[in-house]
Amino acid sequence: MTTLTHLECTRCARRFEAGQVWNLCECGGPLAARYDLERARQSWSRDWVNNGPSNIWRYAPVLPVSKPAAMISLGEGMTPLVRTPRLGERLGASDLWVKDDGVNPTGSFKARGLACAVAMALELGIRKLAIPSAGNAAGALAAYAAAAGIEAHIFMPRDVPQSNFIECMAFGARVTLVDGLIGDCARMVAQGAEKEGWFDVGTLKEPYRIEGKKTMGYELAEQFRWALPGAILYPTGGGVGLIGMWKAFAELEALGWVVGKRPKMIAVQMEGCQPVVRAFQQGRPQCEFWHGAWTVASGLRVPQPLGDVLILDAIRASGGTAIAVSDQEALDAGLELAALEGVFAAPEGAACVAALPKLIARGALDPSERIVIYNTGAGLKYLEAWSTRFPRQAPGDQDKLGGLITPR
Ligand SMILES: *Cc1c(COP(=O)(O)O)cnc(C)c1O
Ligand SMILES: [Zn+2]
Repeated sequence: MTTLTHLECTRCARRFEAGQVWNLCECGGPLAARYDLERARQSWSRDWVNNGPSNIWRYAPVLPVSKPAAMISLGEGMTPLVRTPRLGERLGASDLWVKDDGVNPTGSFKARGLACAVAMALELGIRKLAIPSAGNAAGALAAYAAAAGIEAHIFMPRDVPQSNFIECMAFGARVTLVDGLIGDCARMVAQGAEKEGWFDVGTLKEPYRIEGKKTMGYELAEQFRWALPGAILYPTGGGVGLIGMWKAFAELEALGWVVGKRPKMIAVQMEGCQPVVRAFQQGRPQCEFWHGAWTVASGLRVPQPLGDVLILDAIRASGGTAIAVSDQEALDAGLELAALEGVFAAPEGAACVAALPKLIARGALDPSERIVIYNTGAGLKYLEAWSTRFPRQAPGDQDKLGGLITPR
């Protein structure tokens, strides 16, 4: 059973009651769920986790949902942690792993967060959810809303990958394509929330998605037999995964399940949208808006993350860093990972592969430490991007190839 006690503003520390509908604090700060970890420590053991279900609810005592009937699942979480020795040898890292969250329902790690948020909505009696999304969060919301039998209203930039548009339509969501970026979508959701009574499940606008995402940190610990790696490379857009894992590590320490140094958290962004990298380099506590954001890694097209302070705090406290790579480098590295190891990552995850040799060259990573590349999505969701590498002849093109014409 959950050990949730209350929610707390991450900016002003104001307390909010559990079991109620909340978005942001009045001060604008995101809320964080707090648990009675002492009680969890006494009533739960890490040796029992493996008896639980093979989805995020194996960690139910540190998730916010209290009614088992609300714990909907499509099989999210418990994704493969793949050892990648050939890629490691190529890039100069001797203990390299890829955590492949591309195998989640709807092909991205967004399933973890939205499973938890939709379950909470179900428990709290919310019937209409809305989301501004760069694509994968929309697909995940649409799937879990369908599984829960509640309404999903989705706002995405018009140029989202085709896969995201089609999956949302297939899941029966109400989809609006917006001529603008995710911030414009967020404004439209805010209007609908006021007029139509939708509940906004946008990134960090409610406290429960991050709880689902923190299972990434619990799972890494569990899969490594309760020993955390030396470094985690994480493709950072809104940064929820990074903040979530950092929260998980703090909770795991309080539970007494892991000891020792936490992993260096390394935020990887794209050259076309790198507000976190810029703020990190300039030693600032917050991000500035990144103008003209563009990258094929659509999940990283977040010009100003709402959780910027939390992201930058976690990176600095962990002794990590932030780095950007180009779209071309990410796609090249993704094909290298695929061909060497059989893991076809999203461009976001591939960006971390591209960042790795640069980080080793800079001395930010030790070639022999245990390094995890967090792949957040499936390569197959980005066919437009990969098609630029593998153009196919259109039907009939054969006739135009002199010398190769087959007689009719
Ligand atoms: C949303 C998304 C990201 C960014 O996630 P955050 O945790 O919000 O930084 C990275 N990769 C993919 C594939 C995504 O869909
Ligand atoms: Zn506050």
